[in-house]
Parts: sequence; C-alpha cells; structure tokens
Amino acid sequence: MTDRIFNFSAGPSALPLPVLEKAQKELVNYAGCGMSVMEMSHRSKEFSGIMERADSGMRQALNIPDDYSVLFLQGGASLQFAMVPMNLYQQGKPVDIIHTGSWTKKAITEHKKLVEFKLAATTEEDKFLRLPKPEEINLSGDASYVYMCSNNTIVGTQFKQFPETGDIPLVADMSSDILSRKLDISKFGLIFAGAQKNIGPSGVTLVIMRKDLADRAAETLPTMMQYRTHIKGGSMFNTPPTYGIYIAMLVVEWINEQGGVSAMEKINVAKAQILYDAIDQNDFFYCPIPTADRSSMNVVFRVTGDKEDVEKTFVEQATAAGLSGLKGHRSVGGLRASIYNAHPVEGVKALVSFMNDFAKKNG
Ligand code: PMP
Repeated sequence: MTDRIFNFSAGPSALPLPVLEKAQKELVNYAGCGMSVMEMSHRSKEFSGIMERADSGMRQALNIPDDYSVLFLQGGASLQFAMVPMNLYQQGKPVDIIHTGSWTKKAITEHKKLVEFKLAATTEEDKFLRLPKPEEINLSGDASYVYMCSNNTIVGTQFKQFPETGDIPLVADMSSDILSRKLDISKFGLIFAGAQKNIGPSGVTLVIMRKDLADRAAETLPTMMQYRTHIKGGSMFNTPPTYGIYIAMLVVEWINEQGGVSAMEKINVAKAQILYDAIDQNDFFYCPIPTADRSSMNVVFRVTGDKEDVEKTFVEQATAAGLSGLKGHRSVGGLRASIYNAHPVEGVKALVSFMNDFAKKNG
C-alpha cells in the first residue's frame, strides 16, 4: 500500500497497518460466521470470544493482576472525569489533584461540580511547560484518591515516574500513553484511557480498576454511571461499542506479537529521541519542554522566535509532502508530532529529513 501517508495526528491517530489489513479481510465475514462484527449480536458466541480476547490481550500486555477489572466503556475519557469522583470520592476526604495542563483542568471542572478536592501540585505558573518535581507534590495523606494525567497530550510532557501514594488509590488518565510502556498496575487504583490514540478507534474507553474500589459508590448513582454495573455485566450491561472493541483486540494482539509493551517502550523511546535530537541540533527549531519531562508520544516543538506564519507554512508543506497532522493544539499553537505505538520509525525519519530541508530553505 504505497498511498498511505505518515499520520502524526494526536488522536484519532494512526493504527497499525497489519491491524487495518486484518480488519479489512474480516470485514464482511468474520471468522467464517457469514457476517461482519458490526452486524452480530453482542451476546453471540463470536462476540463473546472477541471480548474475552480483548480482555486477555490487555491483561497479558500490561500484566494486570486478577483483582483488577478491565472495562470497555463509552463516553470517552471525558466521562471518566466525572465517573471517577462520582464513584471513588469518600465524604470528608478531599481528592488530591496534580494539575499539569488542559486535561487535568477538565477533570478539575468536573471535580468542582461533584466533590471536594485540593491541588497537590500545579505548574500553571509555568504554562504547564514542565512537570512538578516530586518534592513539589504535596499529598495530604488521607485523600479519597490522588488524581493525575500521565501524559499531557497538548503540551507534550510525560511523567517518567509516578508519585508514591501508599494506601491512597492513584488514579491516572493515560489516554495518550497507555500501552506505550511498562507499568506496575498494582501501584494504581484506576487507570482510564480514551481508545483513539494507542488502543483503537474512538468510541471505546478503557478502564482498568481495582475491583474493590467499585464498592465505594452509592447505589443511588445512575446505573450506567456505576463501575460496579460494568464490572458485573462484563462491559455488556448494555450494547458495547462492538466494532471498536474488536479493533482494540486486534491492536493489543499486535502489540503482544511485537514483544509486548516493553518492546513498544524501547521503540517509542528511540523514535522520540530521533526527533528531539533533530530539534535540539537545529537552531531553527526548539522544544519548550525540559529534557526530563518530554513526552515520547507527543513531541511538541516550535520555530525559534515562535514565528506563527513560518509554522503555518511548515504544516502546509509537510502535509503536501505526505506528513499529516503536525499542527500544534489550537490552545497552544506551534507544532506537534504525535508518534504513538503505531507510528513507524520511517515516518519519524521522513519528518526529520523534511525539517532539515525546511530549515535550510527558510533559515
Ligand atoms: N485526556 C487526555 C490526556 C487526552 O489527550 C484526551 C483527548 N485528546 C482526553 C482526555 C479526552 O478524551 P475523549 O475525547 O476520549 O473524551
């Protein structure tokens, strides 16, 4: 397939080509059953098999302990901003929130409506262009949970280490770096992620949670808003996003075939390094994030002097050259290359070569 471009979109984003090809092959007739996954009952034997494979694939990839549930929900990561406080808040125990950008801001908006919380740390004064250092994170010690975002998709920062929260559950929005690196799941109470970056198409939200935490929620919460409903129903209390779950299954099986998340992590670190080196070695560009906090998923950079007109030309010419999705988020401007698991190293090399040429011509 030579007509595929290099897609640097932040999400929905590139999917592994072998996954798309497999889905294409199986599109009209899945596993010989005479119909598409899109057409079959979610209660059918075939779809139950898909759900089981998606669950076991996730468990294998992330080494998820048995006392954790793997849920495939809807409503995006954005619904989790509200479901987490609705279900996990305990009266009189304000949530500790580590505020690192636009996505934690959205979570804060929901927490404000629902529960009490404190900011355990914030880097807002620095426009979120760095992460708080461990000594800047003031955990209260008796919070309902500690809330954070592991990878800040918009500004391009990523926690390389997670705060030690002891018995207090750590809740992490991992929408933009789930499955990209090894994790010790037992350190987390709950992890959630919108699927559309590293898992599959939009419309599926992955939740990995310690089962006992679902008991915290009041039974009076709307049924669909309770994690216990989805745990009991095996993510099939109502009709789940069946096709999205099928693609997520193919993606996670592809990851496992590549050697799992540790193999992904090595490739991701190497890919990001190629790009950050190219930025650091060329005065024409700069990266606003200190080295230690840089994301290996969303590489944010600018044309030195923050020349917006030049950045606009960069995006236009890159798009024409088959490098798509390089415009920075509308809230911060600049440039951003999102290089999730499925983005091939060849795409990163093509971008570096384009950047060097562009700098020569415009410098
Ligand atoms: N959190 C993070 C870190 C994100 O990057 C995004 C989407 N880009 C969201 C949450 C929101 O996800 P959704 O659109 O699935 O609600």
